Amino acid sequence: MDQLQKRLRQLPAVDQILQHPSLKDLALADHKLAVKCTREVLTAWRNRIRAGMEPPATDELAREIRDKYISDRRGSLRPVINATGTVLHTNLGRAILSEAAAMAAYTAARRYTNLEFDLATGHRGNRYEHVSTLLRELTGAEGALVVNNNAGAVFLSLSALAAGRETIISRGQLVEIGGSFRVPEVMAQSGTRLVEVGTTNKTYLKDYEAAIGPETALLLKVHPSNYRIRGFTHEVTTKELVALGRRYQIPVMEDLGSGVLLNLESYGLQGEPTVQDEVRQGVDLLTFSGDKLLGGPQAGIIVGRQELIAAIARHPLTRALRVDKLTLAALEATLLAYRYPERAVKEIPTLAALTMTPEELQKKAEHLCELLARVLASRARVEVKSITSQAGGGALPLAELPSWGVAVMPEKVETTELAHRLRRTEPAVLVRIQEDALILDVRTLLPGENRELAAALVQAFDLVGLPDGESNNA
Ligand SMILES: *Cc1c(COP(=O)(O)O)cnc(C)c1O
Repeated sequence: MDQLQKRLRQLPAVDQILQHPSLKDLALADHKLAVKCTREVLTAWRNRIRAGMEPPATDELAREIRDKYISDRRGSLRPVINATGTVLHTNLGRAILSEAAAMAAYTAARRYTNLEFDLATGHRGNRYEHVSTLLRELTGAEGALVVNNNAGAVFLSLSALAAGRETIISRGQLVEIGGSFRVPEVMAQSGTRLVEVGTTNKTYLKDYEAAIGPETALLLKVHPSNYRIRGFTHEVTTKELVALGRRYQIPVMEDLGSGVLLNLESYGLQGEPTVQDEVRQGVDLLTFSGDKLLGGPQAGIIVGRQELIAAIARHPLTRALRVDKLTLAALEATLLAYRYPERAVKEIPTLAALTMTPEELQKKAEHLCELLARVLASRARVEVKSITSQAGGGALPLAELPSWGVAVMPEKVETTELAHRLRRTEPAVLVRIQEDALILDVRTLLPGENRELAAALVQAFDLVGLPDGESNNA
């Protein structure tokens, strides 16, 4: 007990540690924040000492306070370098905006706009009109509406069109999509009664037909996203389902998940139906995300028959799921690029990353490898490596995109420790680990990130300027 008190008393007082040479300037710049960070660090150390750790050296303590102060001042959301090769990484913010989309969002943020003002008539305008006209043009649908995200789009559509009545869906499509979007639960919440038909692996048209009754409001098809049933399987095609819906005058709704507006098959990316294809086949209502394969901002896009869109727009939830002007500005700019597919593929970072050729990727990897060999010197062996990357975001789940990367094999540090340190560099770097090597997939490295990546690796190897994480004290 005495021993413990003695060790606790070795921690300096707040005012005292703030006199440390490396903290004086902080206390001058923002004394209140400096005191807050110092108190938090000291409290954490008191707990560690009670748990049996030795008190830190004063310099170490000062460094920790300084790191905390810098990180608190900067805020917590910040850029990371995505070297994982997963193009649409939900945890890393999914799609990166095109220059045009980012600029449009910036302008909408910094200037007044005609968001809900009709410049032709001088009367009140409609905020959705800016993108719905373009969406109609690009998809061939009669009507369009945009809400906060695709989960919202599905929930809203079901609420507006099928609450209190029945929605028929195949058992093979009752899936969960990352981040707790579970189709049966979303359906239940919307107030529609779920009528599941068929089996997990096989559902036939006659299963749907047998379930149709006076209470049927919708036939729902859901893209299984990051999940596939293979082997002994059968699902009803869009065409068959549409024909059935027509026969009984029941609308067919499809949750496409990742909405693609370009056919990517010529780039070797098979298996995602385009929005236009599904509209052409007669699907009455389609929903998809703005920030998956479309490559725009987070949004839920609904396109389809005008009368259904109008019914959805009238529902009170539409207001609750309203998109903001920054999203609309970025979405409009993203959609504008799709008028010229060759341009879209180059300008929209998601499409650019997915359609990069193996030759381009190999060249990029060789370039990075040379740089790393030079700056890392004896710290690690580096070599160019043929690998595969993933689309992510539930899109093209089975596609193995042939890619190139750099394998970094450290000489003295464990790869897991190195990966851990790379999450604390500035900017942080996320990597894959494969058989005692860090794999840096160049597909998701943005222009200009090579130098930052090299600097971060040097920092991680040498632990220079890296904040102390908990695990380092263990
Ligand atoms: C991703 C996805 C969703 C959820 O979309 P968000 O835009 O993330 O809300 C819903 N349904 C399917 C099939 C999906 O793939």
